[in-house]
Amino acid sequence: MKKIQMVDLKGQYEFIKPEVNAALQDVLENTSFINGPAVHAFQSDLEKYLGVKNVIPCANGTDALQIALMGLGLKPGDEIITADFTFAATVEVIGLLNLTPVLVDVDPKTFNIDPVEIEKAITSKTKAIIPVHLFGQCAPMDEIMEIANKHKLFVIEDNAQGIGATYTHKDGSKSKTGTIGHVAATSFFPSKNLGAYGDGGAIFTNDDELAHLIRGIVNHGMYTRYYHDVVGVNSRLDSMQAAVLKIKLQYLDYYNERRKQAAIQYTQLLKDHPNVITPFRLYDCNSHVFHQYTLRIINNDRDGLVKFLNENDIPCGIYYPVPLHLQKAYTHEGYNEDDFKVTNQLVKEVIALPMHSELTTDQIEFIVSKIKEFLKR
Ligand SMILES: *Cc1c(COP(=O)(O)O)cnc(C)c1O
Repeated sequence: MKKIQMVDLKGQYEFIKPEVNAALQDVLENTSFINGPAVHAFQSDLEKYLGVKNVIPCANGTDALQIALMGLGLKPGDEIITADFTFAATVEVIGLLNLTPVLVDVDPKTFNIDPVEIEKAITSKTKAIIPVHLFGQCAPMDEIMEIANKHKLFVIEDNAQGIGATYTHKDGSKSKTGTIGHVAATSFFPSKNLGAYGDGGAIFTNDDELAHLIRGIVNHGMYTRYYHDVVGVNSRLDSMQAAVLKIKLQYLDYYNERRKQAAIQYTQLLKDHPNVITPFRLYDCNSHVFHQYTLRIINNDRDGLVKFLNENDIPCGIYYPVPLHLQKAYTHEGYNEDDFKVTNQLVKEVIALPMHSELTTDQIEFIVSKIKEFLKR
């Protein structure tokens, strides 16, 4: 059996090596390393894939979130509601822009932001909501958009973990994640479902005016060369990364299908175990692209299991070990522990198993057998 990895970037590269090598060679030959044809081609392919009017590539997912917020004309002190249980980048950019993060609890089944908690947190200062499609599962976008419309709030989807997922609306129509809110951010970090060979990110929006503004913001606030109309940043996706991403985008549905099959096998083998809660899928089969396959270990020793798996050469991850409201950088005395019951519980129970498109059935069987062996002790 091949050595088990959290993410098998080498195996993934081997599968597309001739195409990738040729595309990189192309960039080397034409030397348009920044803003070259590969960037435009990838941008246009991604717009078609998502069914969104504008994709604006940038340097990474954190920048994408920050730039999306910058485009919305928010002012210091404006409150932005987001989930307590997510990667810190989401709340970091809120802080960087001197906006006020308001963290709320999540749904224990889906790990996603809870619309009931969003409503409770709205004040006269609330200006936006950032739902995160955590671990690859769509957040409840219809409910979130309803709340946003009622209170005139912006919705910025953090789609860093959810690219390729399809949300089915209450009326049966379908949208790709990242095309439902006013604007969305994604990351092409190598381990993401659509990963580059370095850093990368993008902003999506159907709003042409906002797209125009953002295209300037990513490029020093310039709309005409050397005329700076707004305060911007320098945030670019380079041509090498775009060339790789253009190829990998063609395989994104295949990669996500492979992840889904791995998830189905894990769940099949673990679903009846008394100490395990397998990931819950809220909508249809395509609403979860399993960026992570995250179990909850109940009435047992989660940390002991991590250690045991590592001793058996099985990597695993704790996403995330500390709720954001308890992180030194983001805590404040206004928070009440009773408001974060779910996150406080989840951080003690979650464990993410190896999940990627190259995982084999015998690897999954081995991982599960070791989990069961530990939990029996
Ligand atoms: C990865 C990630 C980001 C940040 O992306 P980078 O490209 O690493 O900056 C933001 N939000 C979430 C939820 C992520 O998983």
